[in-house]
Amino acid sequence: PPARQSWLDKLRNGLRKTSSGIAQVFTGTQIDDALYEELESALLMADAGVKATEFLLSDLKRRVKDAKATDPARVKALLGDALTELLQPLEKALVVGEFQPTVMMVVGVNGAGKTTSIGKLTRHLADAEQTVLLAAADTFRAAAREQLAVWADRNRVEIISQEGADPAAVAFDAVSAGKARKRDVVIADTAGRLPTQLHLMEELKKIKRVITKADAGAPHQVLLVVDGNTGQNALTQVKAFDDALGLTGLIVTKLDGTAKGGVLAAIARERPVPVYFIGVGEKLEDLQTFSAREFAQALLS
Ligand code: GDP
Repeated sequence: PPARQSWLDKLRNGLRKTSSGIAQVFTGTQIDDALYEELESALLMADAGVKATEFLLSDLKRRVKDAKATDPARVKALLGDALTELLQPLEKALVVGEFQPTVMMVVGVNGAGKTTSIGKLTRHLADAEQTVLLAAADTFRAAAREQLAVWADRNRVEIISQEGADPAAVAFDAVSAGKARKRDVVIADTAGRLPTQLHLMEELKKIKRVITKADAGAPHQVLLVVDGNTGQNALTQVKAFDDALGLTGLIVTKLDGTAKGGVLAAIARERPVPVYFIGVGEKLEDLQTFSAREFAQALLS
C-alpha cells in the first residue's frame, strides 16, 4: 500500500545520509579484503557499534562461504539476511487487551520525542477501538503538561493532570481512575530531565512502585522513547533505563533524519529490548511498527 511505501522512503532517505553508505560497498566486482574493510567502516559509520559490526562481518563471511557466493550483489543480499536475523528479536507487537487497564509508563530524555510519540500511540490505540486515559506525570515542565493536553484534545481522550502535584501521585490517580472507569489503556508520561540524572532514575523508580501500588500487575509496559539520530548514545540510554526500570519496549524516533540507524543492530546485539514502533516524521501516521526485514532492506538500499 502507498502509505507503507512512503514511510519506507522516509526511512531509507534518512538512513542513506552518509556518503559512504552501506550499499556503496557492493558496487564493485570483487569479493576481497577491501570489500570487508569498507563494509566494516560503513557499519561503524552507521553507528552499528563495534560488537554488532564484528558479529555481522563474521556471520556474513560464513554465509558467503556456505553459499559459495562469487559476486558482491549476492554478498549484499546475504548481508540483508544476516541483518534481518540479527534484528528479528526486536520485532514484537505491543499487545493490549490482556489487562484492564493495560498500564504503560513512558520514559525518555527530553527532546527524544516522548510527548509526540505518546500522541501518535494514543491515536493508534484509539483507531483500534481502545479507550485511553493519559496521565501527565511530568509535573515539572508546564509545557510538557500543556503539550500532552493538546494531544489528548486532538485524540479526544481523557487526561489526568495536576499542576505542581507529585508525579507519582498523578500516576496513582490515573491508574486508579483507569481501573474505576474500566479504560483499556492508561499511558503515563514522565519527566525527561531533573537536576541530576540519578535523581531522574530515582523519581522514575518511585513512579513505577506507586503504579504497582495502584494496580498489582502494573505497569504492564515500561516504554523508552529514544532519538535514533543520537546513534550510539541511544544504546547507552537503553542500557541505563533498562538497568534502572526493566524496559519492556522501545520507540525509536527520528529515523527519517538519520544515517545512524545502524544503532538498532547494536541494540539487538547488546541489549535486545523489543522495538514496538519507529518514528519517521512528525505527523500522526509517522509512527510505524518495526519490521526487521524492511529495516534491513532500508539500511542496505
Ligand atoms: P519530548 O521532549 O521527548 O517530549 O519530545 P517532543 O515530543 O516534544 O519532540 C521533540 C521534537 O522532535 C518535536 O519537534 C517533534 O516534532 C520532533 N519529533 C518527534 N518524533 C519525531 C520523528 O520521528 N521524526 C522527526 N523528524 N521529528 C520528530
